[in-house]
Amino acid sequence: MQTVCPSCDLVIDIPRIVAKQIAVCPHCQHTLCHANINFDRRVIALSLSAIIMLLSSMFYPFISFSSNGITQTITLPDAARILFNYDSQLLGLFIDLSILALPLYLLVALIPLHLGILNILPKPIARRFLKSTLALEPWIMSEIFLIGVLVSMVKIMSLAEIEFGISFFAYVFFVILYITALAHLNRERLWSQIKPNQRVVTINKAIRAIDENIRSCRVCHQLCSGDTCTRCLSKTFVRHPNSVQKAAAWLITSLLCYIPANLLPIMHTTTLGDETPSTLIGGVLLLYKAGSYPIAGIIFLASVVVPLAKALVLSFLCIMVAKPANRHTKRYTKIYQLTEFIGKWSMIDVFVVAILVALVQLGNLMSVTPGLGIVFFTIMVICQMMAAHAFDPRLLWDKPKQKEKINND
Ligand SMILES: [Zn+2]
Ligand SMILES: [Zn+2]
Repeated sequence: MQTVCPSCDLVIDIPRIVAKQIAVCPHCQHTLCHANINFDRRVIALSLSAIIMLLSSMFYPFISFSSNGITQTITLPDAARILFNYDSQLLGLFIDLSILALPLYLLVALIPLHLGILNILPKPIARRFLKSTLALEPWIMSEIFLIGVLVSMVKIMSLAEIEFGISFFAYVFFVILYITALAHLNRERLWSQIKPNQRVVTINKAIRAIDENIRSCRVCHQLCSGDTCTRCLSKTFVRHPNSVQKAAAWLITSLLCYIPANLLPIMHTTTLGDETPSTLIGGVLLLYKAGSYPIAGIIFLASVVVPLAKALVLSFLCIMVAKPANRHTKRYTKIYQLTEFIGKWSMIDVFVVAILVALVQLGNLMSVTPGLGIVFFTIMVICQMMAAHAFDPRLLWDKPKQKEKINND
């Protein structure tokens, strides 16, 4: 199979690799692909089991919370429904989609995809179906939600009695099965049912795609020489158009949201009629004082350090694009990959607030309501994910002349 390294743009002919082997870019060590093994049956079995677990987790009690003889029990869809009641529609919708609707749709779609439906459907429909299904994955946050649940439990453990319901355990199993199913998903194998991967160039020496005017499709990774991908019909570009400008715009928006996200309260806690607002940092300090050092550390890292570090790293990379590649470029590429990978983990705090708001509803005795800060925080994390996605790491490796040409095109 012929491919282009998405990090450094080297054209590579990947030889046939067997089970447990992976192909790695010889230039920047980016992992290119795993062995092309038929895991169809395994993916179907895992997806089916994950769907059963996800559906079971929706209808039974998820967590119950008791304090002074009053008990509040919530189901999973309650978490989003209660946010809707507090006029946080955006947040409610986001949670509903990212932890329930999107994973369910993806898992349901994986079954026919692995039963060979792509060979039966008319090509345009098959193409669209595969493209839309695979695009969902980055927006699914079930595993992050699960960590959020555990963190929120630590936060309220000292205040009340917590009991996990059947749904909680079903959701844990769902997350394990979902992650295993995705680990067995072979995207190239699915795309090759639409059209087998084609070689576009004979390689005698190490070449970069930009030197031969070869474009790598961002959606299906087929190499093309024209403006449109021959396999998925997406528009192709030598480099993502206006990548640095787009990344900078998303980054500035995210930084503008970072300020109110930290200054405004993310939630209000009412205890015996007294309302106390709490900010991101305030929550971390409270956990720290209560002696939950590891959880305080995780939340501090995920909510305060990671967003700032990510903004700094991406701004630095946007500046480095203007400089010629040097001996540090490989390291920059690695840092970029790490930034993209950890992006959505900052969402933990959003889920913590959602769970607390849904669960702690004992009227004047004790209740939690969402604050405006959490909305800004959610927008900030989404903007940072968009910034990392918009940035094209191959620009770091381009020669100054090539950069000029891209800018003028
Ligand atoms: Zn590479
Ligand atoms: Zn394509």
